[in-house]
Amino acid sequence: MTTTRFAPSPTGYIHVGNLRTALMNYLIARKSGGTFILRIDDTDPERSKEEYVDAIKQDLEWLGLHWDRVERQSLRLDRYAEAADKLRGMGRFYECFETPTELDLKRKKQLNMGKPPVYDRAMLNLSAEEKDKLRAERGDGHWRFLLDQERIEWTDGILGDLSIDAASVSDPVLIRGDGQVLYTLASVVDDTEMGVTNVVRGSDHVTNTATQIQMIEALGGTVPAFAHHSLLTGPQGEALSKRLGTLALRDLREAGVEPMALISLMARLGSSDPVEIRANLDEVAEGFDITKFGSAPTKFDVDDLYPLTARILHETPLSDVAADLKAAGVPDELADKFWAVVRENITTRKDIAGWWELFANGADPVIDDEDKEFVAQAMTMLPDGPYDSDTWGNWTAAVKEATGRKGRGLFMPLRKALTGQSHGPDMKDVMPLLQVVKAKG
Ligand code: GLU
Repeated sequence: MTTTRFAPSPTGYIHVGNLRTALMNYLIARKSGGTFILRIDDTDPERSKEEYVDAIKQDLEWLGLHWDRVERQSLRLDRYAEAADKLRGMGRFYECFETPTELDLKRKKQLNMGKPPVYDRAMLNLSAEEKDKLRAERGDGHWRFLLDQERIEWTDGILGDLSIDAASVSDPVLIRGDGQVLYTLASVVDDTEMGVTNVVRGSDHVTNTATQIQMIEALGGTVPAFAHHSLLTGPQGEALSKRLGTLALRDLREAGVEPMALISLMARLGSSDPVEIRANLDEVAEGFDITKFGSAPTKFDVDDLYPLTARILHETPLSDVAADLKAAGVPDELADKFWAVVRENITTRKDIAGWWELFANGADPVIDDEDKEFVAQAMTMLPDGPYDSDTWGNWTAAVKEATGRKGRGLFMPLRKALTGQSHGPDMKDVMPLLQVVKAKG
């Protein structure tokens, strides 16, 4: 049975980069009728905030990425302590007492000598007395996992065959001096105990994966299938890391992006398949194939979300926007006609209110100097509302007859006088919605 998880740390709002991870894990589970776990990685009590846990849930719900259950690392600390004991008992866990400054100095020295900054295991073979002495002087140490210095190999679902030399990686710190369990250990324990079969995450985790494979094996777990997706860049290939803060899912929602626009884009971006709008997540899951994703950085342009959003809205039935129309003040009896006209002319739902405002209160007329007389004459011929779908045809025919104008010279000044714009929906369809014509005075 396939089990996947999305494991955000609740230290901020989730953004488009996180969404890619969440979506891929979600789709793998759904495609195979498996389980999708939302795992809150909250072992850092200082940086983890309950408001972010709530926000992450809201964002996933908005997108329809429903989870089968929630797990919280902060409620599983006893499990991690047990695993730590097990590693200690196996001689794979050792206490170190260097200060951050000392470690930093070591790294700088190694780099100066052209060596990779790998921890030198200086504390590995301390005697019990030496440890006691250091502990007395410096307090509790931090704990490192002792890597087997061999090559760690796996076939990555996206990157293919990978081989990492454990000797080129520092023994990872799993427990800090203050007792805080770090993600690397917690994640391994959770993945093993929760029967996680597939892990998709960003390629910034590749080295973690190498060390975690050794930890999983040491703890007697089954190594899941790993896949590491490339990181997102901006449209010009520039790093997105600094801008991700402005690409939070809630900001996109606020800006009016439709969830299926975001999902349709993210499910295909960076893969060999074209982006296609999908009606729902089941359809997305059906066509999802992680092997089609490439290892190259994936270019993401937030502006691509708006044409997709507009296309989705063009197809959206009235029932799905009824609440938005109500909120904008569109009367029930006009809702049908209003939506049929307006949905072709909006980019996001946020544009709905503006259109109703225009119809309900009329637009400030735009009248070019050379059209002043013409428009004034035409307005005397426009009957009082309410209008219907014949109004425009009848009126313009009469105006044409009276003024001799035709074509664009006839229609455009009238459109601009009535709507204040030189483009928009068919005027024949606009008239029945128009409650007020300001140009009529
Ligand atoms: N909490 C980790 C992160 O947000 C999870 C990584 C993983 O998927 O294992 O980076």
